[in-house]
Amino acid sequence: MIGFFELENGEVDLVKKAFPSAYTSTEQLRETDFSSLANCEVLSVFIYTKINEEVLRKFPKLKLICTRSTGFDHIDIDACKKRGITVCNVPTYGDHTVAQHTFALLLAITRKLIASTKSVKQGEFTPSQNLRGTDIHEKILGVIGTGRIGKNVIRIAKGFGMPVVAYDVIKDEKAAKEIGYTYVTLDELFAQSHIISLHTPMLPSTKHIIDRAAIKKTKAGVIILNTARGGLIDTHALYEGLHSGHVAAAGLDVLEEEASSKEEKQLLSKQFQKEIDYRALLLNHMLIQHPNVIITPHNAFNSTEALQRIINTTIENVQAFQSGTPQNTVSS
Ligand code: NAD
Repeated sequence: MIGFFELENGEVDLVKKAFPSAYTSTEQLRETDFSSLANCEVLSVFIYTKINEEVLRKFPKLKLICTRSTGFDHIDIDACKKRGITVCNVPTYGDHTVAQHTFALLLAITRKLIASTKSVKQGEFTPSQNLRGTDIHEKILGVIGTGRIGKNVIRIAKGFGMPVVAYDVIKDEKAAKEIGYTYVTLDELFAQSHIISLHTPMLPSTKHIIDRAAIKKTKAGVIILNTARGGLIDTHALYEGLHSGHVAAAGLDVLEEEASSKEEKQLLSKQFQKEIDYRALLLNHMLIQHPNVIITPHNAFNSTEALQRIINTTIENVQAFQSGTPQNTVSS
């Protein structure tokens, strides 16, 4: 028996198509499910269902847990190991999605898209001086973090004819040669880039990687993009940079203190709760109101295709396990 929990309505049909006899629920796995589903051999959950020793004891036949997330800290991996239960995750789903959103922000800024469409809607069909944009062709892009998303951003940048410099603690020189970008020091990146785009995880080493001192090292007129995590930028420093005019514009999909969410899909959930930090709220409000700032609501991952990939990969994870060739295992 297969049990899928915490599904969205649209996902139920996809699961039913792949596994017609599966038990499907839009709710979390509850204690009331335990006795009726005791024969379950496969469980698929999102991050709100905590799977610990106590839960595992109720499913003596369980062989596989597929979490529909990248993170798996809601599952007691040691307890699964002890019981010989394989755990699979969805390691990637939005590498291109987030990279595309990064360029949506950049083009919206450089081509004054929001002001232009507003002008037309107000009946002003004139290419006026205040709607004049800037080219990104031949502008130097500095990418901080050349992982999966960072590399896709660079690939797109190359299509626009942008020279790219990059900084990462782990240099992928092979990719740099193949895609055509150059690793430099962080200070060199700050000094050379017309546009800086952030693609590192939130770590103690990356917190406020863009702070007052960093902004001082950047070119006057720099554009800063952040589709990674809000904490990579010191919001106050960014606001000061914008206010002084040194930073020409910012395109942000994430804000500092927006939330401590670990999973993008968590943001779509009703259960997502925010703890309010009023200073951060005020600064975020000031940024939102700033004419040279474009902010999207942590929406970079939120494409039909990315969400479909999450459910498709999970279905494939179950099928691969059933055919004896498990994939995306984080524990077996
Ligand atoms: P990844 O793990 O593939 O790449 C991260 C890169 O950052 C790695 O190359 C790593 O070496 C580098 N890095 C780590 N510490 C560094 C440091 N101190 N200085 C410089 N580089 C450092 O990750 P990814 O899949 O490319 O994702 C990048 C970020 O995007 C993550 O933080 C992720 O949370 C965020 N993200 C945002 C959204 C969204 O909807 N806005 C969606 C998915 C991912």
